[in-house]
Amino acid sequence: MRQSTLFTKTRKEAPKDEVSKNAELLIRAGFINKEMAGVYSYLPLGLRTLNKIMEIIRREMESIGGQETLLTTLQAPEVWKKSGRWDDKVVDVWFKTKLLNETEVGLANTHEEALTQLLKSHISSHKDLPIYPYQFQTKFRNELRSKSGLMRAREFIMKDLYSFSKSEEEFRAFYEECAAAYIRIFGVLGIGDRTYRTFASGGSFSKYSDEFQTVSEAGEDIIYVSKEKNIAINKEVYNDEVLADLKISKDELEEKKAIEVGNIFPLSTKFSDALGLTYKDEDGSQKPIVMGSYGIGPGRVMGTIAEILSDEKGLVWPETIAPYDIHLIEISNVNEDVKKEAERLYTTLSESGVEVLYDDREVRAGEKFAESDLIGIPIRIIVSEKTLAEGKYERVMRKDGAADMVNESALLSQT
Ligand code: ATP
Ligand code: MG
Repeated sequence: MRQSTLFTKTRKEAPKDEVSKNAELLIRAGFINKEMAGVYSYLPLGLRTLNKIMEIIRREMESIGGQETLLTTLQAPEVWKKSGRWDDKVVDVWFKTKLLNETEVGLANTHEEALTQLLKSHISSHKDLPIYPYQFQTKFRNELRSKSGLMRAREFIMKDLYSFSKSEEEFRAFYEECAAAYIRIFGVLGIGDRTYRTFASGGSFSKYSDEFQTVSEAGEDIIYVSKEKNIAINKEVYNDEVLADLKISKDELEEKKAIEVGNIFPLSTKFSDALGLTYKDEDGSQKPIVMGSYGIGPGRVMGTIAEILSDEKGLVWPETIAPYDIHLIEISNVNEDVKKEAERLYTTLSESGVEVLYDDREVRAGEKFAESDLIGIPIRIIVSEKTLAEGKYERVMRKDGAADMVNESALLSQT
């Protein structure tokens, strides 16, 4: 990608009405645009990062048997009335609207009802189970406060997977597999060292659910953590009974602010009972299907990473989700040979599959570097009169500023 053709521009100033660090940085770097409170558009750089996050999640969901689907945003009230969740007093984040003929419809905030209803046409026998449909789908939630940028949006993409199992035992086995997949996901995303599987309230269906909480000052949740024992407990369920269950004492735990980047939730037969989704067991009897739900917010993850892996100069992306692998910067000072060499390197790298953002603009070096720091691509490669004279390129790591001189083959083998 030639930066001279990239339509987004970086900004020195954050928008006045933006209070969260993640949105401020992402807006300044041209990754997202704020449409209104809690509503953000993804621009080319931001979409590349979002897509990479979703691809990492997708790969893990496929590896545990997930089958990708895409359900609708528009929701008919009938199925939600059956589960009791159409009521605004039960679900307080509904966006509802009407067809021209006055029929009410909802904008989906989650998909248990729709999917359970849909599966009645596909599941009838024990041979049809277990199954694990999932999707990346836009949810609408009328969040009361939306001041945390991408971390609490009113319109956002969620990866939601739902498990449909024959028994509690079969459900539990998958639940643990999915928990392990989540740990792998947050590891690849570069936040594994501060993300904890966290005991949280499980509503009426089971004693606990599990949240995946990333420790951050920007977090809206409070958790109690033992790094040593790798145990974390959400404040909501932090009491003597839980401590006894987990065989841990108060003085082993530290209070931290954290961001819920994902969660997994036992649903038991709440939705299959309400909507009448059953299967015929081997002995001929009809049995209810045991369900679970498993969410991750790719946008919230992106906001979290922007929040915790940034510095005073800007964003610092992990290699796995950076919009590009390399930020190639030419400092030609109208030197045609430098320009030619930068062009040649851009073509060579691109042809060998390296994703390069190439700053080919006629802009001062200082400005290019400052913008590059803000955008946060992991490796910066500089082509200048100085590097040309040495027959090498200058390589600067965004993470720690470490710089060295490399030749082309070293560059190609690194990425
Ligand atoms: P919270 O308690 O933070 O509101 P939740 O319990 O409502 O989260 P779920 O309904 O289980 O969350 O959604 C699954 C995942 O979707 C969350 O773990 C989070 O990553 C993401 N998510 C939830 N709400 C939002 C939001 N308003 N903006 C962005 N991502 C969200
Ligand atoms: Mg919520």
